[in-house]
Amino acid sequence: MKAIFISFIVSVFILSLSETYSQSPTDEHYELANKVLESVPLVDGHNDLLLHYYYYKDRKGNLDEYDISKTTTGQTDIPRLRQGKVGAQFFTVFSMNDKAVTKTMMGTIDCFYRISERYKDDFLFARSADDISNAFNQKKIAMLMNIEGGEEIENSLPLLRLYYELGVRYMTLTWNYSHDWADAGLDSAKHNGLNEFGKEVVREMNRLGMLVDISHVSDDVMKDVFEVSESPVIYSHSNVRKYVNTNRNVPDDILLMLKENNGIIMVSFVPFFINQSFADWFEVYEAVFDSLKKESRETSKEKIEKWKKQNPAPIVKLSEVADHIDYLKSIIGVDHVGIGSDFDGFTGTVEGLEDCSKFPDLFAELARRGWTETDLKKLAGENFLRVFRKAERVSKKLRAERKPSMMRID
Ligand SMILES: [Zn+2]
Repeated sequence: MKAIFISFIVSVFILSLSETYSQSPTDEHYELANKVLESVPLVDGHNDLLLHYYYYKDRKGNLDEYDISKTTTGQTDIPRLRQGKVGAQFFTVFSMNDKAVTKTMMGTIDCFYRISERYKDDFLFARSADDISNAFNQKKIAMLMNIEGGEEIENSLPLLRLYYELGVRYMTLTWNYSHDWADAGLDSAKHNGLNEFGKEVVREMNRLGMLVDISHVSDDVMKDVFEVSESPVIYSHSNVRKYVNTNRNVPDDILLMLKENNGIIMVSFVPFFINQSFADWFEVYEAVFDSLKKESRETSKEKIEKWKKQNPAPIVKLSEVADHIDYLKSIIGVDHVGIGSDFDGFTGTVEGLEDCSKFPDLFAELARRGWTETDLKKLAGENFLRVFRKAERVSKKLRAERKPSMMRID
């Protein structure tokens, strides 16, 4: 009886072990992931590294204070970008609601330029799809510039054009606040979409060859953009609303419009856009955080740590990010999905995707789920490059057809 019982226990153990085993990628899956990332540049659509120079600890753009040639305290640096086999990285230039918008933006762009120069053995400043391919062939990481929040052009199409000249290749039409010409998903509506000037901004971006990013915007803005834009558009860092009910994520009916537009949604690794329990926890966390604003830095830090110990955050796993990607594939097809981590731009972490060295783990997980080499190449970078090249062709055509817009709303 005892022997039968033991053999029963052993077989249950072996069964559960093989179950666990089959749920993790094998060497074969990692081989495929690495092969893909070595043959196609992995394009990460969104990263907030530049915040480390401008908004943390009064560094004010001093590169010596945060040296990315070594492992940093954040989520992004050169050793880990290399380990993660990143081929092209968009770095966000962001005013973070600073009152001196242009000064902050120019300071951050200057920072981007100095990074590209200081680390030129590893980075190549890229302004086109061809630049991304060239960087990849030279075994360098293409660094691309984007701006986040349409208010940063200060209602000026001349400023928009100059941002393009400086290297900005996509603009997120809003950040978290509705502004003079577009509504944000997380704010109340001012225009029920884009107003006339907002539509002209989209047309001018098409003419310039600057990609239109509709992460962060309201559903009505998304729909207006699909109507106005002559180029395919991107979501640089968004997820699936079916899994987490937030306006930062995209509902199924709008995903179908994205497919129609031939655009791409680049999936973020932000835990509160991936897992509903984490999103619910985060809402309470933010309220606690806000309630401590009047306290001293030390006291509020102490209190928030104590609160976190009593109310631990739900764990969010890499496999859940893969679920979002799988879902998108099932709804709109593999041609419309990409990666936009948002590293260095959020609170919390996804287990298994803690920093920019972990991309191969995600690709191996998708390989385990049956994604083919062709599928994985599209996800890594081919889809983004298709969209970028198309926007470049549309720009060439539109520049020949029409002059720079002089519309004003001041
Ligand atoms: Zn964002």
